[in-house]
Amino acid sequence: MDLGQISEYCYNLTNSYLEITNQSQVIADTQDAIRLTKRYFLQDIFPRWSPLSSEISFSYNGGKDCQVLLLLYLGCIWEFFLNSLQDTQYDRQYHKYPLRSLPTVFIDQEETFATMEDFVASTSERYCLSLYESLRGDGRKLSMPEAFELYLKSHSETKAIVIGIRYTDPYAADLKTIQPTDADWPDFLRLQPLLHWKLSNIWSFLLFSNEPICGIYGMGFTSVGSIKNTLPNPHLNVDRTGKPSLLFQWEIAHAFGKAEGQHDQVNVSKVSRKDLALLKGSNGKYLPGWYLTDDSLERAGRIKSC
Ligand code: FAD
Ligand code: MG
Ligand code: MG
Repeated sequence: MDLGQISEYCYNLTNSYLEITNQSQVIADTQDAIRLTKRYFLQDIFPRWSPLSSEISFSYNGGKDCQVLLLLYLGCIWEFFLNSLQDTQYDRQYHKYPLRSLPTVFIDQEETFATMEDFVASTSERYCLSLYESLRGDGRKLSMPEAFELYLKSHSETKAIVIGIRYTDPYAADLKTIQPTDADWPDFLRLQPLLHWKLSNIWSFLLFSNEPICGIYGMGFTSVGSIKNTLPNPHLNVDRTGKPSLLFQWEIAHAFGKAEGQHDQVNVSKVSRKDLALLKGSNGKYLPGWYLTDDSLERAGRIKSC
């Protein structure tokens, strides 16, 4: 699929989720969350910075939150494109989608799981991302502000960057949908239209999407940082959970475009051998990440630095 096709696909996926009726409270809440995110993009953001130019970039690290936001963003860009055609006299078939790839930035900040790196590469192709990966400088990994400073030097047309941060993330409780960066960061606008999403909304939409999900989540991870500070979430250890209950059975069984006979399968990416070897060391077996829906426990697999 080219960028126009995957954008149209995400538009149809989002509409399909919004059309679900008579399902769980989680689905109804997630539909509200989607409508608000769409409003932010289509009414507040796109009239100021066109997503069809290079004024907006997307910050992407393969995590579940920015993947959900990316699916919504692509769908909204398609809707914006369709709306822009209404004002012209020519038929839609005569209009080419003006973008070939989506400006995206990935900061190679810390040593991360090979599965996650593979996932960033494979989804970059799937979603037609033009992925900028930050340079490591003189053997040293750059801090996030340093890396964005360099990015802006080579992408000076960038005015704003989309971020998949949520209110429940550390230090995020007072963030705004649109706000400038802090004084110790390079100067640009932060676009944060996912702030109001809860963990259960993320899993509900992602599992329904039937898009590939990074394999590391299938191993009991719920929030992924560096190899050195991230373990599977202890609250998903099967010795601790007892009889597991899954909130998203319906989403998995009725996932978008799912082939017959695949009803219980979740579309997770392959876990790298390196990570399988690494995980042998962690005690016990874990349920997949989507069994955890308590936002306050999302980062319980992180080892705190002293
Ligand atoms: P995560 O859930 O891991 O990340 C939240 C989101 O941040 C992701 O969905 C993704 O969109 C983005 N992101 C995280 N890691 C990466 C990465 N390695 N490469 C690319 N994108 C990534 N903090 C400040 O204090 N002041 C600022 O002005 C400020 N501006 C920022 C501008 C941008 C564009 C970004 C990406 C971050 C900025 N931050 C700023 C940091 C931000 O508030 C989070 O602390 C940071 O994104 C890490 O999030 P997390 O690991 O807690 O959560
Ligand atoms: Mg996150
Ligand atoms: Mg992070």
